[in-house]
Amino acid sequence: MQGRAAEQFAEIIVDIAHADVDRVFTYRVPEGMFITPGMRARVPFGAQVKEGYVLGLTNTPGYDRAKIKDILEPIEPYPALLPQLTELAKELSVSAHCPLAEAIRLMLPAEMRGGRVKVRTEKAAQLIVPSDQLDEALAAQKRAPKRRLLIDLLADGQVHAVSDLGVLVRDPLPALRVLEEQGIARVFEREVLRSPYPDDPVLSPDPVLTDAQQEALDELIPALRAGSGRFLLHGVTGSGKTEVYIRAVRECLNSGKGAIVLIPEIVLTPQMVSWFRARFGDVAAVLHSRLSAGERFDEWRRIRAGMARVVIGARSAVFAPVDRLGIIIIDEEHESTYVSDRIPQYDARDVARSRADREGAVLLLASATPSILSFAKAVRGDYMLLEMPHRVMNRPLPQVTVVDMREELRLGNKSMFSEKLLAGLDRCMAQGQQAMLFINRRGYAPSVLCRRCGHAMGCASCDVSMTYHAQDKMLHCHYCGGREPMPETCPECGSRYIRTLGTGTQRVEEEVRRRYPDVGIVRMDVDTTSGKDAHRKLLGEFRSGVSRIMIGTQMIAKGHDFPQVTLVGAILADLSVNLPDYRSAERTFQLLTQVAGRAGRADIPGEVIIQTYKPDHYAIAAAATQDYRSFFGTEFARRKRDLYPPFTMMVRLLCEARDEQTARETSGALFNGIQAALAEQPALKKRVLYCREDDAPIKKIMGRARAQVLLKVLVHPDSDRVLLHLKSLAEQAWPCTVTLEIDPASMA
Ligand code: ADP
Ligand code: ZN
Ligand code: ZN
Repeated sequence: MQGRAAEQFAEIIVDIAHADVDRVFTYRVPEGMFITPGMRARVPFGAQVKEGYVLGLTNTPGYDRAKIKDILEPIEPYPALLPQLTELAKELSVSAHCPLAEAIRLMLPAEMRGGRVKVRTEKAAQLIVPSDQLDEALAAQKRAPKRRLLIDLLADGQVHAVSDLGVLVRDPLPALRVLEEQGIARVFEREVLRSPYPDDPVLSPDPVLTDAQQEALDELIPALRAGSGRFLLHGVTGSGKTEVYIRAVRECLNSGKGAIVLIPEIVLTPQMVSWFRARFGDVAAVLHSRLSAGERFDEWRRIRAGMARVVIGARSAVFAPVDRLGIIIIDEEHESTYVSDRIPQYDARDVARSRADREGAVLLLASATPSILSFAKAVRGDYMLLEMPHRVMNRPLPQVTVVDMREELRLGNKSMFSEKLLAGLDRCMAQGQQAMLFINRRGYAPSVLCRRCGHAMGCASCDVSMTYHAQDKMLHCHYCGGREPMPETCPECGSRYIRTLGTGTQRVEEEVRRRYPDVGIVRMDVDTTSGKDAHRKLLGEFRSGVSRIMIGTQMIAKGHDFPQVTLVGAILADLSVNLPDYRSAERTFQLLTQVAGRAGRADIPGEVIIQTYKPDHYAIAAAATQDYRSFFGTEFARRKRDLYPPFTMMVRLLCEARDEQTARETSGALFNGIQAALAEQPALKKRVLYCREDDAPIKKIMGRARAQVLLKVLVHPDSDRVLLHLKSLAEQAWPCTVTLEIDPASMA
């Protein structure tokens, strides 16, 4: 038995996201192989070879040693998973009800799995003779001018890329090989990191902090030193929140800690990245979905190796392998993009809080329009509230006017622009300034109708109306992406009177071009920004002043800082108010306040015009005064009165089937099952405020019929049992897909 005692075994999660194999498997670590927890390794699994994650090591396996197989090989020579991220994954697999393997996948660039991305290398060369023997080395190359030149170029003793040498010496490799044989130089492969940045960072100096920025930091810095604290920074648009992030991050770096900064959509705010690179240089890394696989892998490795200590990224960057984390900052924390709609479902704000607690880091949520949920937590004392109520340099908040479009119509103005907005645009253009026009709908016209019978053109696969697009003169479905030619006659009655109704970005663009033929215009919506570099080009065109009017969807509402914008127009503010969602008022307020915030960010004061058919709606009125507190007060009272989140949870069992009947039969059966269970358990029944079964608001998407059971459940400790029951119901075998959603980002 000698020698056996030293045998080592690894507990491994095999990378298969299936509940049946959601447990630890034991493998032997062959003698001489280096394995530590957190490493990935290839292991035999049945007849296959699988990748796995080492959770732990042991000398005493709880399994028959004779049956234990050997690990084949480690995948990387280092632990790809930090121990604290392994813990986070374990927690997530419980809260998101998913196999641990699936939660672990979130912690690594997707391309690392299955070896779909490789470390890139290049050939490099370096002299290996001491400098006092250089002359001798040169003398040995009498009739070889190329080799002499190479020795000269390498004489600095540095490593040079062979491709760089190739710029000065044609085809240098054979000559370098000769030098290698002579023992003068060495030629080898070295790793190169693919960089997503077009330029090297140009470091810029710090501005003097405003009093409000200083006060916020006076609270943050002691918390950073103590290694705990949760904050909500409510700072109006243009109050300089970014500078607070930068100083807090710097404090972390100075004490040897790292930082994660989450932003809602990185391609929309390249500015944040350039600001951070301007202050931190290559210590900052970015992680987001538009990077190439290689870039993402290399940025991840820079972070994992500790070369990059500040990570800026979208939602999933909350899992970045930053060791010794000092702070997690969530910019524009109200954005719904922080909620992952894919499986495993998670809310980056919750993950960030848990990670910050576990790793002794500070959590900083920030927004000009905090979500009702987060602000309620601040009011309750769960977060410390930091406020920056004024813009920097005493710049005023923009002047907002609400225009009642019903009144415009009464006065005979049928155009999409009110007199007031037109006058504002005229003035803005005449003064050489810039304007932004916001409408939360892309395409030309959102509906196409027959004037004779009223038939609306709908998508064949989805229960939604088709949007007319002027670019290709086709009808587009914004849910499934389907396209159809614009019909010449009505498919119902054959009439030729077909008209487009309503306004989208393309129609606004057409109208603006007609009125200002000499002004450069950029349009930003999903249709104009699909290319890899499209965002950057369009934003650059506007920033440089080549274009002076920007038209766009909510894409243009977010954190941009364009100093020359003095006029912002919201063409139709009502669009988001009318959505069938309890958050529609909140979303409207946020959107309008954020777009309004784009105006007057430099020395010239800004003007904002909000056009609406509902000027009295409280979300629109509060956005007009940019009064967050008053909006919060009204909305919170309404949520309390009507029992919406945060007082309740909206829970939905979504049934998706090939045909309507199956979907409805399933939702009906689920409904009956819930009713029966609640009837048996009066304690739980009390927590369920209502339970309804119906078609989903959108009955069909991509050819799949949708039905739902919608429940409103009181927030209460008992409710966990309600949720567990619903979960087990959803997991039963049904004739169609059943998904359990808790406070889903979209209720459509
Ligand atoms: P917010 O994110 O709060 O809307 P930003 O961080 O974009 O605001 O800052 C608005 C503008 O103010 C930016 O152009 C920024 O460079 C500038 N700024 C921020 N802090 C200062 C300061 N202390 N002094 C001068 N300018 C500042
Ligand atoms: Zn018709
Ligand atoms: Zn469709």
